[in-house]
Amino acid sequence: MGWGNIWKEDKEYGTKNVKKQNFKKSSQEGFKTAIEFKKKEFQSSFYDPTNDFSERSLSFEIRVDPLTGETSRVVPETGIEFQGREDLSDLIKESEGCFFCSENVERLTPKFKEDLIEEGRIEVGDAVLFPNLFPYGKYSAVCTFSGEHFIPVGKFTPKLMKDALIACRVYAERVHAIDEEAKYCTVNWNYLSPAGSSLMHPHLQPLIEVCPTSHHKTMIECSRRYYDENGSIYWEDLLNKEEKLNDRYIGRTGSVRWITPFSPKGHYEVRGITASYDYISLSGEEINDLAEGIIKVLQFYDSEERNSFNLSIYSGELGGGEHFLTNVRLIARSNMQKYYMNDASYLKMLLDETVVSTSPEEISLRIKKFF
Ligand SMILES: [Zn+2]
Repeated sequence: MGWGNIWKEDKEYGTKNVKKQNFKKSSQEGFKTAIEFKKKEFQSSFYDPTNDFSERSLSFEIRVDPLTGETSRVVPETGIEFQGREDLSDLIKESEGCFFCSENVERLTPKFKEDLIEEGRIEVGDAVLFPNLFPYGKYSAVCTFSGEHFIPVGKFTPKLMKDALIACRVYAERVHAIDEEAKYCTVNWNYLSPAGSSLMHPHLQPLIEVCPTSHHKTMIECSRRYYDENGSIYWEDLLNKEEKLNDRYIGRTGSVRWITPFSPKGHYEVRGITASYDYISLSGEEINDLAEGIIKVLQFYDSEERNSFNLSIYSGELGGGEHFLTNVRLIARSNMQKYYMNDASYLKMLLDETVVSTSPEEISLRIKKFF
């Protein structure tokens, strides 16, 4: 099969109708995972002005995501270096006393209507969860999780993270209890302006939707199709395969296993996969395992001089199922700087193609010591 055919099939993967339970045949023949890590190396040549116009050839890889068929590129020499970190102390001082600071949060943040949250807001430890003043979904909330206005990327604790994730779980449970159709749950985090955050104060943004966001929908549909065709859960097969290969497998924090994805969506991408179908079935212990792993990734980002990132936790449809495992994805963004260069160019924004300069295998090697 040529590269063109592989490409075409993968592009169609997420859009075909789900075929019902035809996996019996493959189990009779002895089950073999359907996951393939497809990549191809390409060369681009030119006359190089930095070396007397001698011919130079640079190579890059195109990789296909084994679940969705989405492609990404690993380009060792992008010519774009991440800029260093700047001292943010003036900016922190200027922005102190924001809506989310402990002296203002009660007075200046919205409250839920009684039918959803009788108490108005959800409080767990230092975490306070309230409606988003600028909602972009039917159930769109904000969870501020620190009394402190600013926490550097390497200084978050598992306890802070766990309380915030539990507050988000309570929110998801309440929403789903009053609106069964709201079953597409993600928990999200923009950390600092390059990642899209308008406030420095740490806050998560849970979103419980009737209409799933496009990537969440693709992930769920492709996972369902894989389950129907293979009789096993994609995410479990992926973890087993990655653990055996040991090129991108990082380790575990209790029940959560961590990898760097073969075909990344962003720089320094790390993914943690739980053993539970949806976010509301995660036990307190599982949420603790998840929080511990997230903090280890942030400590790794700090060690790599990164100071801005995005995080999303993707849940299976609230209310149950079998084809999905709740998982988290973290990516580093351009560093917070006065004149920073955004890492999301036309390639990402208009062509929907990720380009990274450090391979997932290299990131896996570097992060292992934190686990
Ligand atoms: Zn604040």
